[in-house]
Amino acid sequence: MGLLSQGSPLNWEETKKHADHVRKHGILQFLNIYNKVKDRQKDVLKWGDEVEYMLVEMDDKNEKVRLVLNGKDVLETLQEKGEKINPNHPTLWRPEYGSYMIEGTPGQPYGGTMSEFNTVEDNMGKRRREAASVLRMNETLLTVTSFPRLGCPGFTQPEYKPTPVEKGVSKSLFFPDEAINRHPRFSTLTRNIRHRRGEKVVINVPIFKDKNTPSPFVEAFPEDDGEAARAALPDHIYMDAMGFGMGNCCLQVTFQACSISEARYLYDQLATFCPIVMALSAASPFYRGYVSDIDCRWGVISASVDDRTREERGLEPLKNNKFRIHKSRYDSIDSYLSCCGDKYNDIELTIDEDINKQLLDAGIDKLLAQHIAHLFIRDPLSLFQEKIHLDDENESDHFENLQSTNWQTMRFKPPPPNSDIGWRVEFRPMEVQLTDFENSAYVVFIVLLTRVILSYKLDFLIPLSKVDENMKVAQKRNAVQEGMFYFRKDVFKGCNPVLDPPSTAQNGVESEAKDGEEFTLMSIDTIINGKEGVFHGLIPMLNCYLENMEVDVDTRCTILNYLKLIKKRASGELMTMAKWMREFVARHPQYKHDSVITDKVNYDLVHKCDRIAKGLEKCPELIGDPVNRGK
Ligand code: GLU
Ligand code: MG
Repeated sequence: MGLLSQGSPLNWEETKKHADHVRKHGILQFLNIYNKVKDRQKDVLKWGDEVEYMLVEMDDKNEKVRLVLNGKDVLETLQEKGEKINPNHPTLWRPEYGSYMIEGTPGQPYGGTMSEFNTVEDNMGKRRREAASVLRMNETLLTVTSFPRLGCPGFTQPEYKPTPVEKGVSKSLFFPDEAINRHPRFSTLTRNIRHRRGEKVVINVPIFKDKNTPSPFVEAFPEDDGEAARAALPDHIYMDAMGFGMGNCCLQVTFQACSISEARYLYDQLATFCPIVMALSAASPFYRGYVSDIDCRWGVISASVDDRTREERGLEPLKNNKFRIHKSRYDSIDSYLSCCGDKYNDIELTIDEDINKQLLDAGIDKLLAQHIAHLFIRDPLSLFQEKIHLDDENESDHFENLQSTNWQTMRFKPPPPNSDIGWRVEFRPMEVQLTDFENSAYVVFIVLLTRVILSYKLDFLIPLSKVDENMKVAQKRNAVQEGMFYFRKDVFKGCNPVLDPPSTAQNGVESEAKDGEEFTLMSIDTIINGKEGVFHGLIPMLNCYLENMEVDVDTRCTILNYLKLIKKRASGELMTMAKWMREFVARHPQYKHDSVITDKVNYDLVHKCDRIAKGLEKCPELIGDPVNRGK
């Protein structure tokens, strides 16, 4: 989840005093990087995936499953056995928000050759086995986006009680601080978000109304001092801590582009896919022990780190704050970055005018300047005493401080100072899938998509406000089948980002965008599989690309299996994880159709998930029957 520094974290009051300092030096650090590497060309295409895992304990005797809070020890052991003794170790392990979470990536990025697609699943399998090998007998590693009983009494091992009243960083009624990673970054973020906001975060997820669900659905919170009663909405599952969001797991992919303009082009193009691929990866229907009416985690995390004050949220007139801010720090992107995107930038963009001017004066073009000036409307949320005064030429911590706490659907990443890493973009909306096969399929699908976009110079841009509308639709229950999404009809007829440098956009050359003609509402099936007379379909495009590429037989077979999964998920022939979990619960003999996921139901569900993930059980309705699985 970003940069980890060691040292003494400052509280919110102290951090606030240094906010302008962090922003000022953050911008200088960005400019230093930019000036050094802006003209860098010919970096090769590299990419890598990130998978987030939960550590769980299966208590077979009591038929209970709990999250194990030993992520720190597991991580240390994995690093000691891996990267610390072998710089070429095939896996890398990193901490994540929950103390029951770890994150794994391949040891080296993948390169541009097709045969590497055939190693992705293998590497994910290595990670899973490697991590599993250091766990205790009854523990296992799970790639489930949201743990169904997160925040329910006794959901952790060891068990801890939340501390809503006494000292604590979350003050949650449900989520104990011990379930937060012990590295000070995570607790500091949690506490400072709450202090900056002026109250606990508020997450309300609509409950799924089953035939025996009370209506209205209203909960009592015995330990509440009044805050929950004010914040909780009827017919919603109420949550009050960062852990309910950042304690979820996802699947991300980062690309290195060959130049800054290619990175900006990819950033924009991929942004339009975020809602589509998120809906296609939907895997999180349950929250705090209840069946919800959403299928994706996005809005939950968004609310879980929403540090905006009442003034910034527009509930009170601006007095102590500078800006009215429309979105949480964890949200969809607010502006396109490539020249082609300029005319589709139709979201009101709050920017720090002084920073924007400073960037423009330093020679940065309008689109990049406003992007950075928008990220920098935020305050730093965590700052370490020892890390206030930095060498702006050779360090970038202040820039990264704000960059890494703007958790948007896409992230545009400048190279670190003095490194041979190029300009990168990160694709962040996907939910993690149950098996390595599925995770590989989603990752390979996105990587192939970038190749096709770059090779055929495709243009998928639509007004950004429409992408935002798509984001809302994407999270709804069964959006993959029922949702209609704005999508561009003719993707072969856009502007050419490499021939049109950003300056043309700056000069305001408006080409007429005949809105309503360029894009239309489509189902995910149409977008992915195509529909005569409406849209060509992404899978047919990828297939066409593959036919023209030299690919060995084995790799081709693997890729086709992956694309088949994507294709069938889009058409509804296969279920999403969200749908599959819903059906499992609905059919469970002990489920009372009251939207409650009991310990027993949760245990049976997780048990089944674990067996499928380990390849001990097939699950054709979710995964199909891929030919060469498990090789
Ligand atoms: N776990 C977060 C999510 O589900 C992402 C954290 C990160 O940026 O690594 O989106
Ligand atoms: Mg992560």
